[in-house]
Amino acid sequence: MIQSVAFIGLGAMGYRMAAHLPKHFNDVYVWNRNQDKAKQHAAEYGTQAVDLQKAAQADVIFSCLPTSQEVDDILSQVYLKKGSIWVDCTSGVPESAKKQAQYLAEQDVYFLDAPVSGQTVGAENATLTFMVGGDQSAFEQALPAMQAMGKLIKLVGGSGAGFAVKAINNMMMAVHLCAAAEGFTTLKAHGVNLNEALACINASSGKSGVTETALPQRIFSREFPLTFALPLLAKDTGIAIDLIREAKLSAPVIGLTQSLIQAADALAKPDSDFSTAVKLYESWSKITLE
Ligand code: NDP
Repeated sequence: MIQSVAFIGLGAMGYRMAAHLPKHFNDVYVWNRNQDKAKQHAAEYGTQAVDLQKAAQADVIFSCLPTSQEVDDILSQVYLKKGSIWVDCTSGVPESAKKQAQYLAEQDVYFLDAPVSGQTVGAENATLTFMVGGDQSAFEQALPAMQAMGKLIKLVGGSGAGFAVKAINNMMMAVHLCAAAEGFTTLKAHGVNLNEALACINASSGKSGVTETALPQRIFSREFPLTFALPLLAKDTGIAIDLIREAKLSAPVIGLTQSLIQAADALAKPDSDFSTAVKLYESWSKITLE
């Protein structure tokens, strides 16, 4: 039985995810580097803004930070309760998850790598997908807490497997983004009506999450709302490339996509949404996707 839950990292995802926990659990602690956000969360959702050590004393502790490096930094600062479960929703590095699980096992604490997909709207509606790596019994114990924030929750393998699935998912999304930018730039060069073309493709085999949501809502609208930062996508594609290298596989499409996403990130303004990667194509072709 889970008595207390904590959430560490109230960013674009964490702030919205943690908002669901008080509906299911009595004691919900939140901690954020900028403590004002934690206080605001407590006032808004009835969570408790606490210091890091108090948060680390919960039965189930969620973290959602930019990279595995920040998770390592936090783990090195806290003492955890025996039998507790650390559920890391960061899109992290599979090799780090194995080390983190080993490090926490020495304290009789479980570690699950449990990255999520569904973007901020999924976090807001508690419809996220959790792809989880780690111990089966820890997964089952932490499941009710993940169910408070997600819809599809799958144990995909041992430690690191969740992070691996997330990295490959985001890499595939990046491939779709580049393909959509190339495809629609070509259509516009041929004088095709982009909105009508998009409607056709979204009813055909070329559709993807990018064509269904990112193109109409972010790119054609020219809004590019910042909900998932481009450097975070570049980080994920980097993790995917490392997985491919470790497996000694060749993946030319993914390799090229990684270079394009890195170039787009290098040229982007600070605080750019992932969808601004298409501006790389726009600058080459002098064609605006609108
Ligand atoms: P944000 O940049 O919005 O939030 C980052 C959070 O990490 C903030 O709470 C920030 O605190 C905290 N943080 C940053 N650096 C440190 C540090 N050194 N020590 C302690 N806390 C720190 O990121 P997101 O919420 O967008 O993403 C979080 C993770 O989720 C990433 O791994 C991302 O790839 C993944 N993800 C993001 C999605 C999205 O749509 N945004 C979708 C799915 C996964 P502070 O407020 O003080 O800056």
